[in-house]
Amino acid sequence: MEGKYSRVGNCQCWSPQPGKWVKGKLIGSGSFGTVHLAISKSTGGLFVVKQSRSDAGLEALENEVKILKSLKSSPYIVQCLGIEKSEGNLSVLMEYMAGGSVADVAQKFGGSLEEEVVRLYTREMLKGLKYLHHHGIVHCDIKCKNVLLGSSGDIKLADFGCAKRLEDLKGSGGLMKSLNSIGGTPLWMAPEVLRNERLDSAADIWSLGCTVIEMATGRPPWGSDVTNPMAALLKIARGNEIPQFPSHFSKEGLDFLAKCLERDPAKRWTADKLLNHPFVSGKSRRSSQREHACSPSSVLEVQRFDDGYDSDEAETPEGDDFSTRKPFTWRHGEGKATALWPWGDSKFGSSGNWIAVRSG
Ligand code: ATP
Repeated sequence: MEGKYSRVGNCQCWSPQPGKWVKGKLIGSGSFGTVHLAISKSTGGLFVVKQSRSDAGLEALENEVKILKSLKSSPYIVQCLGIEKSEGNLSVLMEYMAGGSVADVAQKFGGSLEEEVVRLYTREMLKGLKYLHHHGIVHCDIKCKNVLLGSSGDIKLADFGCAKRLEDLKGSGGLMKSLNSIGGTPLWMAPEVLRNERLDSAADIWSLGCTVIEMATGRPPWGSDVTNPMAALLKIARGNEIPQFPSHFSKEGLDFLAKCLERDPAKRWTADKLLNHPFVSGKSRRSSQREHACSPSSVLEVQRFDDGYDSDEAETPEGDDFSTRKPFTWRHGEGKATALWPWGDSKFGSSGNWIAVRSG
């Protein structure tokens, strides 16, 4: 393959030489386009290539590159190895995460994940979110399909097609214009985002809570409530409910979810604070790996928490009086509402029949 090639800012490891790689089989697809496995002809190393043919998909890929370029490397964020442009087509070369997405992993283990594993993955996701939020970036599309697992069990946040820099939101077009260009996957989106009211790091924390439910139950958040997509969105945006918590979860797990799925974004815990929550504050897999480098079986061990753990703020969600707020408006513009597919067979599939809605 011939093409114009550039290295991307957060590249930490080797980069495939321009044009010296071969595209292999399709390993995934999303609303933006396709993901293929690829192999470097110079090193034999594997990586993935993301491509899109649609305008919206290209925009999402370009946004992903822009965001990743602006970041230094982090062990919790998938690495971009480079980009190639040829005949108007953009190929984004990314590090290969051999385990696939957390949704793929859950599917391979019967649909849902054990709470011990959910704790470990959640902790790693929080570290990724803490890093992003510290750099003024909101991911905007946290869900199991956008969290990848490496061959050594490392967890990384991926798919920055919808991500936003907070400073860009304050730009010349004004906040409302910026809010109207926000994308994400509706069932995972925070109420204030669906209402077009606010976008900041708190939105990712809501989506993280939804993702924890997704990992633990094998179903999207609001899964049992969703028969009519538009009614579901109105319920999330304007109601005062939160998604149903997994019935088998520990007290720590339920309390953790309550901290994430607080309808008032101002009261929602931050990634930094959540990292100290007993649900995730046990030994992480990474530190276990470092401590027991010769004993792979130990990496899945999670510190057992006191059964007597009491939440300091066992909050129940407060009712919202939406009559004083501006009416609900479909955030992506009327036309884009058709991008939602009705909830049919509830498969894990992370987002099931719901697809990410990109900027309108
Ligand atoms: P949408 O864009 O609609 O949210 P999506 O999140 O599934 O869809 P991507 O995350 O970009 O889109 O990629 C689709 C799938 O490709 C992922 O769910 C995952 O299975 C696979 N995939 C993506 N990136 C990688 C990677 N770096 N390594 C291994 N697999 C990947």
